Amino acid sequence: MMKKFLVAQSKEEALSLKRLHAKSVFYAGGTEINRLESAVQAEVAIDLSKLGLNRIEEKKDEIIIGSMATLQTIATSSAVPAWLKEAALFCGSFTRRNMATIGGNFALMLGRSYVGPVLLASRAILLIATINEKGKYAEDEVPACEYHEHFASYQGALILGFKIRKSDRFVGTLRFAVSSQNRASVTVGFGAEKDLSKVRVYAAVYTVGVLRLKETESRIEKGEITTEEEIAKSVAAEVTVKSDYTGSGEYKRYIAGEGVAMLYGEFLKGGQR
Ligand SMILES: Cc1cc2nc3c(=O)[nH]c(=O)nc-3n(C[C@H](O)[C@H](O)[C@H](O)COP(=O)(O)OP(=O)(O)OC[C@H]3O[C@@H](n4cnc5c(N)ncnc54)[C@H](O)[C@@H]3O)c2cc1C
Repeated sequence: MMKKFLVAQSKEEALSLKRLHAKSVFYAGGTEINRLESAVQAEVAIDLSKLGLNRIEEKKDEIIIGSMATLQTIATSSAVPAWLKEAALFCGSFTRRNMATIGGNFALMLGRSYVGPVLLASRAILLIATINEKGKYAEDEVPACEYHEHFASYQGALILGFKIRKSDRFVGTLRFAVSSQNRASVTVGFGAEKDLSKVRVYAAVYTVGVLRLKETESRIEKGEITTEEEIAKSVAAEVTVKSDYTGSGEYKRYIAGEGVAMLYGEFLKGGQR
């Protein structure tokens, strides 16, 4: 249960407070922290609202999205690519979209993550800040895939934002749920350069987590699998699943495969989401 609510006035202060209080969390939109039966359990909330992290900046070659930008701001911003707007709209509730932030959603990395699979598939760069035990503050750029792969070691880091390169890379995402308000069984993200290099395939699978499907990526890049059917089979064979109320393990395998195959089909048609 939350006992203290501290409003950080700077990024350094947010990180210092996090170090100082063992049972603390960064407080962004608060929609998961305050959710009934939330997995995030803490006694001290460190509010990030005064840090100026809610801006979306369009530069010549890239877009910088502050971690405190809400899913609703993202869904309506002209600077944001269509594939990320689509992921933001996976959050079906307008009220929650208005509070929930991209940073909070990515940091949770849930098996029903809205933005995780597509940001990872896009090869986005994370802007993060850390403070060491001597109080030395540092900012760094970390590929999203590295953050995902070494998730445990980035706990305690503050996500400042996301850098998305403007390019003709194909990036797409699909979410499979009974309705927009229900928990998704599977959410997939697929990204590739025009020459089918730097392929990234991610699947958020409910009650399992966010998975990178490296075997499928490699087989696509090597040209070992080229048809939608082959890709669906490869994904279904590689993805880890668990049966739960959103669907059986077999259904999740099937739908993850179909989802990635559909995105690959769009890529082949030259579609840009
Ligand atoms: C009814 C309901 C349904 C939901 N359904 C889904 C769903 O289907 N899929 C889904 O993914 N989520 C779901 N959520 C959870 C939540 O709404 C979203 O994940 C939301 O995007 C979290 O963002 P937030 O800003 O509210 O995060 P918060 O609740 O403020 O924080 C969540 C976590 O992220 C950490 N965090 C926040 N910002 C940063 C940062 N900048 N740097 C480092 N760590 C940070 C916090 O410390 C905390 O651990 C649901 C919540 C509710 C109430």
